Amino acid sequence: MPASERSILILGGTAEASTLAARLVEQGYRVVSSLAGRTKDPAKLKGEVRSGGFGGGAGLADYIAREHIAILVDATHPFATQISDNALAAVALTNIPFLRLERPAWLSKPGDAWTTVATLDEAVAAVPSRARVLLALGRQHIAPFARRGDVHFVVRMIDPPEVALGLIDFELELSRPGSVEEETAFLTARRLSHIICRNSGGAASYAKIRAARQLGLPVIMIERPHRPQMNVVPDIESVIQFVEENAHSL
Ligand code: NAP
Repeated sequence: MPASERSILILGGTAEASTLAARLVEQGYRVVSSLAGRTKDPAKLKGEVRSGGFGGGAGLADYIAREHIAILVDATHPFATQISDNALAAVALTNIPFLRLERPAWLSKPGDAWTTVATLDEAVAAVPSRARVLLALGRQHIAPFARRGDVHFVVRMIDPPEVALGLIDFELELSRPGSVEEETAFLTARRLSHIICRNSGGAASYAKIRAARQLGLPVIMIERPHRPQMNVVPDIESVIQFVEENAHSL
């Protein structure tokens, strides 16, 4: 069991980051999880938690030096590209052992009716007129859909938006993703004809994709941005192995 004063910093905000923190704390490591601070009531995490931006890559590098961080794990969401760029910049400045935990993207299966698009604008253009669409996107990605006054949107979010969404024809649904049964009931009750979402990967929000497959609903899937694939692993076990291999820096 490690008994060190130095910590592992996990850039988090995802389910995997939370599981990883719990696993490392269980094994006796000192862990600090970093959250952006956008969610009002985030789930409790094991170990220490800090919240809010660092001030770019240089700010993160300063934090690493100041707080005696020995290992950095970027376990942020696949679409949270700015913080991941900052992590790479901080690694270049500090030379700290670093790994990115990135859940694999979902792959289309038989029965799926996906239209894959590269950008939000392509998603806006791909929706047919008069569709009833579940918009399963964060609040900062809704505005481009305002130009589709010919479409009815059901916008699902965890926290209520702080500013008007700007959509013309829409309903707001404040809830978290549910089980396949719940998602099927939700899609059916709201008479939804399409889903627009991002290829986040992971289990937490996959139920709606399975529900869409069962109901034969088309999904407009926004693919992930291309990212550097250096030091990237797909699962928690690989991160734990990396930490064990680098435990001498702790
Ligand atoms: P982003 O655009 O990549 O980052 C914007 C800025 O927010 C960063 O430059 C950084 O500020 C701060 N930041 C982001 N994540 C942080 C973290 N874990 N700890 C400290 N500061 C952080 O990020 P985003 O897409 O807004 O996502 C914010 C957070 O929500 C991330 O932690 C991510 O894992 C989580 N999340 C995102 C999504 C998504 O769809 N993007 C979905 C689920 C969860 P400074 O430059 O000042 O350091």
